[in-house]
Amino acid sequence: MKFGTYFAYWEQEWKADYPYYCDKAAGLGFDILELGGGALVDLNDSELSRIKSAAANAGISLTGCIGLPAAFDVSSADKNVRDNGLNLLRRILTALGKIDATVLGGIIYAYWPVDYSKPVDKPGVRARAIESLLSIADFDRENGVLLVLETVNRFEHFLINTSEEAVQLVKDIDHPNVKVMLDCFHMNIEEDFLGDAIRTAGKYLGHFHIGECNRKVPGKGHMPWDEMGKALRDIGYDGGVVMEPFVKTGGTVGSDIKVWRDLSGGADEKKMDEDIAEALRFVRSKFA
Ligand code: MN
Repeated sequence: MKFGTYFAYWEQEWKADYPYYCDKAAGLGFDILELGGGALVDLNDSELSRIKSAAANAGISLTGCIGLPAAFDVSSADKNVRDNGLNLLRRILTALGKIDATVLGGIIYAYWPVDYSKPVDKPGVRARAIESLLSIADFDRENGVLLVLETVNRFEHFLINTSEEAVQLVKDIDHPNVKVMLDCFHMNIEEDFLGDAIRTAGKYLGHFHIGECNRKVPGKGHMPWDEMGKALRDIGYDGGVVMEPFVKTGGTVGSDIKVWRDLSGGADEKKMDEDIAEALRFVRSKFA
């Protein structure tokens, strides 16, 4: 297993100084830095090459994550919206290829968060998501970026809320570049037992997000770390385990993630670093 963190732990905006975070994450002992996929498409080749060099020099590998905005919904009934989404995913994947990133995860099969003031057509969305992902997975072959479908809770989307639903979707897509992504924050809401859900994902698990139930760093809450660690060992999981803590209010990140109180205990950047380094030691000891 390789251990990583999402850059947005330290940031209030989705766009950030990624080379800086390559050095910081590597310095804290991480193997992976996860970036926001959406911000990459605004960068030119020299900016992308700076990120690639920073990661290579720091000895850290890169992954990307995005929840597609509604205007880029690849499962939309509107073909124009679907095409916009497919174009955006192709641009993100091209950028990820240029920085040697290995994974693109998140809500890349629809849009996020779902607007529940509109009717839910789960079969229609599912069919269009499969068609879109097949086309993207074929496009993506040359970049070698693994596509992983994040399984999220019912309040954020309806298509795949459980490991079982995600596995079935991935089986129906049936493409070697498409796998399941789990996130224990969401699993805590939807699954009976987290270990069983991980075993259900089994060989289809391609990426794993972790954090406490309130999105604090691992080790500060009641998430069943021993149970998850045992299940990951049971399935011989060898992919990325990426922390996705959100503990600060403010900015686009704070409002998108709905962080309405400071969960960091008033931590400054140095204390934030210490907290996540401690969380990394904790998770390595539980999952090793
Ligand atoms: Mn996540």
